[in-house]
Amino acid sequence: MNTKTAAVEQMKALKNRLNAAIESRDSLEDNFSNQTNLLTQFISKLSHVSKGINLELDNRLAQLRIMLTKAAPISDVEEKIYEINKLLQQHSKTNEQNISTLHEQFIGAGTNLQKISGLPEDLRRKLRGLLNESLSTKDSLNHYIPLFSQLLDFYNFALKSKNTPKGGLLSSYQQIQAPNKNTNNEIGGVNQEIIEKLSTRLSDLQLSIQQSKKVRALNKKLIQGNSNDDLLHQCIDIFDVIIDDLKTERNSTKSFLTTLNDTLSAVQSAVRKTLTSSKESQESQNTITDKLQTQLLDMSSAVEQAISLDTIKVDISNKLKTIACTLEDKVNLEQENQKSLVEQLSIMVNKVNHLEKQSQVFEKKLAEQQRRSMRDALTRLSNRAAFDDYFSKSMVRYHHKPYDLALIVIDIDNFKYINDTYGHTAGDKTLQVIASTLQKTITNDAFVARYGGEEFVLIYNNIKKDRLVQELNALNKSIAQLPFKFKNNKVSITMSMGVTHIKSKDNIHIAFERADEAMYKAKAQGKNQVVYFQ
Ligand code: GH3
Ligand code: MG
Ligand code: MG
Repeated sequence: MNTKTAAVEQMKALKNRLNAAIESRDSLEDNFSNQTNLLTQFISKLSHVSKGINLELDNRLAQLRIMLTKAAPISDVEEKIYEINKLLQQHSKTNEQNISTLHEQFIGAGTNLQKISGLPEDLRRKLRGLLNESLSTKDSLNHYIPLFSQLLDFYNFALKSKNTPKGGLLSSYQQIQAPNKNTNNEIGGVNQEIIEKLSTRLSDLQLSIQQSKKVRALNKKLIQGNSNDDLLHQCIDIFDVIIDDLKTERNSTKSFLTTLNDTLSAVQSAVRKTLTSSKESQESQNTITDKLQTQLLDMSSAVEQAISLDTIKVDISNKLKTIACTLEDKVNLEQENQKSLVEQLSIMVNKVNHLEKQSQVFEKKLAEQQRRSMRDALTRLSNRAAFDDYFSKSMVRYHHKPYDLALIVIDIDNFKYINDTYGHTAGDKTLQVIASTLQKTITNDAFVARYGGEEFVLIYNNIKKDRLVQELNALNKSIAQLPFKFKNNKVSITMSMGVTHIKSKDNIHIAFERADEAMYKAKAQGKNQVVYFQ
């Protein structure tokens, strides 16, 4: 090959290399431009998302975006990124502080809602659940959005709730904020919780039948009460009735004690008299015995000193007559003693009989009082004290030798509506009818009690789940079919029941809690139903 051809070949090779280098530079430039575009887009999205969080950060991100589009020197870009990085670190700290403040605010608002009286029980439960779930701080502010939204729902529900105190949540809230300040007057409402407590205590009060009637009437007025003044006057009336009852009770006890005292004094004096008279009679007896002994000695010495049989005859005959007289005296004395003893005894027997009659009256009264303390005055069913007693005894029996022991918690559905729409008396009548239907319908050895308000409890012995649930469903049905009629409206009243069987690890509280939870589930599932919890 000559030199020219070789030079041409070299030129060709160099041209090819140059072309390849240009191509690879183009591709590098494309690549770089793509990546810059991507980065610019990312920065622009980032600045869009973080817009408003921090003005400085917004500005720096905008500057970086421009730098990237204008292909600014890499050192300038680096410096900008450094500044942004610093700002982001600062922001992260502020963010943590904000999360912690928001967490405290959330827990504070939830706890304040919990303190408000008269919250519906299921709301209280849900609120407790929400607060328990949120014990630790969340990772981001965003996590608090659904929590606050739920809490707001709860506040909303509580505001609308028919149970919250007169004067609304506001009055309760003000009391939480300033517990020493009496806000009742400012709002004109009466603390409903106090009224309910007072009303329950009154229902538990054990008075004579007559006074019980008066207290029941006053209790009704109390629940319907309007102002603080009304409440105070009703309280005074109630105190008067209670004081009257105490006075009557005290007088009757006093009279019994006075009689008891009289009788004991009479018996004591009779015993003393008997003792004295028997001592006196003993002395008289001794005198007579001495007299007899002297007369007998006299007679024997007369015999010893006798001169003739005839004189003895006369002397002995005289002495025997004297002895006979003395003996007669002795018999008379004994008879007199006997008579006086019998008389004393009969006085004592009469007194004791009288006392026994009085103590029988008292015993009856005591038994009646004890019976009444275990009975609910309105429905005549066993009351909560009787239930506690029966249930704890059943639990002891169960733990000694397990058997099918079941507990049922019943709550009347929408009972407040009956009271509010047809009046408290209609509510009372309803409770009485439902109580007697429960009593009549349940199987013989089952126990039924009014637990309080519109809640009842049943205890079943020796019954398996299927039959029990079937029986309770039938009971629910028969209650729902009761023909209640208020103000010419036919009303159907239903109940929600929670059922559970007792388990070996249960105590009274755990078992009750389970049945109660089951009852709340029945409410949550739409009421008028039986829910069994294993
Ligand atoms: P739920 O279906 O959720 O159980 O609603 P409810 O209305 O039955 O329940 P709530 O607890 O809101 O109301 C119960 C009502 O029962 C409030 C109280 O005034 C009334 N109540 C409690 N004891 C008596 C009572 O002896 N007589 C009358 N008439 N009402 C009573
Ligand atoms: Mg209830
Ligand atoms: Mg109810």
